[in-house]
Amino acid sequence: MTETYVVVGASLAGARAVEALRSEGFDGRIILVGAEYHLPYDRPPLSKEVILGSKEPGDTFIHKSDFYSRNDIELLLGVRARRIDTHGRRVELHDGVSIQADKVLLCTGTTPRRPELPGMDLDGVRFLRTVDDAVAIRDQMRAGASVVILGGGLIGIELAASALGLGNRVTVLERGDAVLSRVLPERIARCLAHFHAEQGVRMVTNAQVAAIEGDNRVRRVTMTDGTTVEADLVVVGIGVAPAVDVAVNSGIDVDNGIVVNEFCETSVPGVYAAGDVANSPCSHAAGRIRLEHWQNAQNQGIAAARSMVGKRVPYRDLPWFWSDQGKTNVQVAGRLHHEDHVVWRGTPESMEFTVFHLREGVLVGAVGVNRRRDVRMAMSLIDRRARPEPSMLSDPAVDLRSIEDITTSAGQQ
Ligand code: NAP
Repeated sequence: MTETYVVVGASLAGARAVEALRSEGFDGRIILVGAEYHLPYDRPPLSKEVILGSKEPGDTFIHKSDFYSRNDIELLLGVRARRIDTHGRRVELHDGVSIQADKVLLCTGTTPRRPELPGMDLDGVRFLRTVDDAVAIRDQMRAGASVVILGGGLIGIELAASALGLGNRVTVLERGDAVLSRVLPERIARCLAHFHAEQGVRMVTNAQVAAIEGDNRVRRVTMTDGTTVEADLVVVGIGVAPAVDVAVNSGIDVDNGIVVNEFCETSVPGVYAAGDVANSPCSHAAGRIRLEHWQNAQNQGIAAARSMVGKRVPYRDLPWFWSDQGKTNVQVAGRLHHEDHVVWRGTPESMEFTVFHLREGVLVGAVGVNRRRDVRMAMSLIDRRARPEPSMLSDPAVDLRSIEDITTSAGQQ
């Protein structure tokens, strides 16, 4: 009997999972279910190339459409899954159809948080989550327009840099006392905030927004102290929540995402989860982690597919992400903690530096600003639990490869 595997979520994780199911030799039926009508696409270009107009939606597709037909992967697009009947082994869709499934992978991702503010429904107020959102935002950006971005996270800052590049006047309204503080250590976050402010982005921290106002379309954002910021376009990027409805409706354990083990298995046998929605054990620090980044979505999707075909290799990738903010590239590897011993290579003012995080002498993380290569080298050292000499890390004249060589030969003794 041919088996059927259903992947719910035509996301990066879902697209890589169906690809891996075939490359790992699964020859049964594969169905990929997606809520949007587009083929699975990459999100990193949405806040940059798509906004800037150098990429069209089709350029973001992970695979061309013939990939799915060539690999006999059935696409069910424009439809949402509702729940899994875990006893009857069926995936029930919102349109009333249900699909028999021997195994199911949930890659349902996240949904944007929506602020409780008057004026959210005005024309010109947008989220940036989908490729359609990115095109709509691009269409509303005119040189000289006032763009207000609610939230100074990764979306907010990447979009601010793109909007500035297009000649807009840009204001970021962040409710915390620093932008990028969820993903970066404070000093580095402040350094980037300062840099973007110098480029021309107006950064407002501790911002308390009271309302978004306008007539037939948005005109201004009003703060609780009564001050206003003129706005032709408001983009909301205030974080996301894991999309766990299907899991909850199916009785699958959920705790800040869908709880999985290191084989991407959920609490229900035969049901797996991967990507932004999965809360997994982390082998690089104590506890569990739910990552909202590209590399994890891709690699955990592949890991889940391997588990589904019986190749149970624990998923233990080192967390890593990058962020392109205009011409500035930021890379973060490992899990950073404010109590780590930090070693700087380069100065913050130079906007070309790497910060290494050591815990009890072991390299556990690195942040690079315009230092891709350093972070790549550091990742290899982190993977090997290296104990590099801080003086070597801080000295820009020391090639990080030589530290790797020393560590490798020390490990072999
Ligand atoms: P984010 O990175 O979590 O940042 C949201 C920011 O908005 C936080 O600083 C948050 O502060 C702030 N905020 C929350 N409520 C607010 C309010 N009412 N007014 C003003 N500010 C408010 O989320 P995001 O930028 O929306 O990004 C969404 C997702 O896409 C995330 O998962 C992110 O990792 C992902 N993404 C990744 C990349 C990348 O990897 N390069 C790029 C873009 C997006 P608090 O911390 O106080 O809540």
